[in-house]
Amino acid sequence: KAKRTRAAFSLHADCVDLPQHGRANLLGDLSQALERHELHVNFQPQLHTHDGTVDAVEALVRWDHPEYGRIPPDEFIGLAEQTDLIRPITDMVLRSATQGLMAGGLTTRLAVNVAPRSLEDPMFTDRLFEILAETRFPPSQLELEITERALARNAERTRYTVGKLRAQGVRISIDDFGVGYSSYQTLRMLDVDRVKIDREFVQGLLTSDRDRKIVASLIGLAHELDLDVVAEGVESQMVWHALRELDCDVVQGYGIAVPMTYIELRTWLSDLAEL
Ligand code: C2E
Ligand code: CA
Ligand code: CA
Ligand code: CA
Repeated sequence: KAKRTRAAFSLHADCVDLPQHGRANLLGDLSQALERHELHVNFQPQLHTHDGTVDAVEALVRWDHPEYGRIPPDEFIGLAEQTDLIRPITDMVLRSATQGLMAGGLTTRLAVNVAPRSLEDPMFTDRLFEILAETRFPPSQLELEITERALARNAERTRYTVGKLRAQGVRISIDDFGVGYSSYQTLRMLDVDRVKIDREFVQGLLTSDRDRKIVASLIGLAHELDLDVVAEGVESQMVWHALRELDCDVVQGYGIAVPMTYIELRTWLSDLAEL
């Protein structure tokens, strides 16, 4: 009997966990959400570890559902990725984020998350450069955060797309570095600019000697390969200081700044400049 329950559970394990709200519903709502402008972009700063100056901001999508309130991206990006909906979402994030920064006269570098499925889309790079031309955002100021899953899905296509993007000056970083299917394989197969150490490791930094050693060795390896290292999930000054000791290049996390609207970002950046 127990076996049966488990099987039934695992069948639904990839569904979102919203009460009275099936995945089909959520998907239907999501396609409307785009038209109704319920999706917004927030920005979270990434700072140079040694002096606290701004290195970049990461765009993070938000969905303000009229009934259910704010739905976190973890609960709808995966769904969107199983359909073609990921395409207009990625385009919206790129357009809205670059427009927002340009409108605010912000020359900050911008990091945007790109799902593996988007990287497989043969039209992705063309559309990306169209959007950048439209919003006049310089490709050299854009960084795409991709995950190791992209390589696992379609290594040839991912390599090709990444090569094409980098040839145009777009930077590439490996997100969630360390928790992927094979981080060594990723570094062998793909030329990138930086890695983002997953927050699981970062958060264990002060309490786990093992985590500290793993982070130290990931940083050492990345530097050996001339890659920048970003630590995500930095929730305190103490973690920031520990990362400085370990020679990590860039820090990002709630302990520095939470994701915010571009209006809030403008204020945040000018306050920072006055310090
Ligand atoms: P991610 O790319 O790893 O983004 C980092 C997530 O960690 C964000 O969650 C961010 O708000 C959160 N975070 C930042 N600092 C801290 C911290 O100090 N502590 C903790 N516990 N969390 C922190 P968010 O915005 O909910 O996004 C979740 C995931 O959804 C992202 O993970 C990314 O994989 C995906 N995502 C978000 N926006 C987009 C997007 O525009 N396109 C795509 N394809 N995926 C997106
Ligand atoms: Ca990311
Ligand atoms: Ca991450
Ligand atoms: Ca993550």
